[in-house]
Amino acid sequence: MKLQNLVILGTGGTIAGRALNASDNIGYTAAQVGIDQLLAAIPALAECGPFITEQVAQIDSKDMSFAVWAQLAVRVNYFLTRDDVQGIVITHGTDTLEETAYFLQAVCRPAKPVVLTCAMRPVTALAPDGPQNVLDAVAVARHQGAQGVVAVCAGTIHGAWDVQKVHPYKLDAFSSGDAGPIGYVEEGRLRLMRNWPFAQMRHASIAIENIANWPRVEIIMNYAGASAAIVQALVDQGARGLVVAATGNGTLHHELQAGLFKAQAAGLKVVRSTRCIDGRVLPLPNDVIPDSEGLSPVKARVALMLDLLAEDAQGLAARRV
Ligand code: ASP
Repeated sequence: MKLQNLVILGTGGTIAGRALNASDNIGYTAAQVGIDQLLAAIPALAECGPFITEQVAQIDSKDMSFAVWAQLAVRVNYFLTRDDVQGIVITHGTDTLEETAYFLQAVCRPAKPVVLTCAMRPVTALAPDGPQNVLDAVAVARHQGAQGVVAVCAGTIHGAWDVQKVHPYKLDAFSSGDAGPIGYVEEGRLRLMRNWPFAQMRHASIAIENIANWPRVEIIMNYAGASAAIVQALVDQGARGLVVAATGNGTLHHELQAGLFKAQAAGLKVVRSTRCIDGRVLPLPNDVIPDSEGLSPVKARVALMLDLLAEDAQGLAARRV
């Protein structure tokens, strides 16, 4: 029986990066090698096709933009609808991979696997990690029953909700925190520990191709000596939402808290996450600022933007009636 296609979308990152020197693992330029050239350097892939490849972007993911996100979501949605496509692999920089993972899970809600993969070392390194990560990602995308957006790095499969970059240098740079990984890829075989990400999201679904204005949502942090000055500046500049990376179980310096209450009164949506790397903010009955329901600050920001976009779309629809 002929295998279905696997789509591989390139977006740049260190996995497509080049350095002048093979022993240089950090002084490289990301996003230099095109997706076809990248894949051509992995002979073992020949046994895993057929593939459809596309260069959706060529950027260092620290520069990820709403325009690239929208373009990526449009292409992912397109390929997901095709019967001849089994799944999608996306090569991506590590820096904002977790935000893209959450974003794609929220807007595409794939019933097929969408596997983000990456590298901590450039193509030119003595021992690049990209080729093995791509092979592992392909194994995940080819796995019967795999679904939803996941990230594959250093032989570990992380779910879109939980994945977080936790190390700036180690090859195994990601963690799923308390949730633990979905599983592992070992010599092309999967050892699964728990379920794949499910399609249910708390956000209303939004038509990503029609977004004219992305709402401004910023992240601020609580720390010793925090004040309300930044909050006030963001209110003055027209921000529509704020995520606060609070201390501990959502605690806030009283001055920052007073500023955030004022921002809420001025109509901004405010959400409390925690700057702790593991765990979540546990809500209390009288909370004035809602918690992020377990999302990290960067993912809570994406979630809040999507909520605001859904609100905008509803407002537009109501005005048209
Ligand atoms: N700055 C790079 C990027 O995110 C880092 C990496 O890919 O590891 O594109």
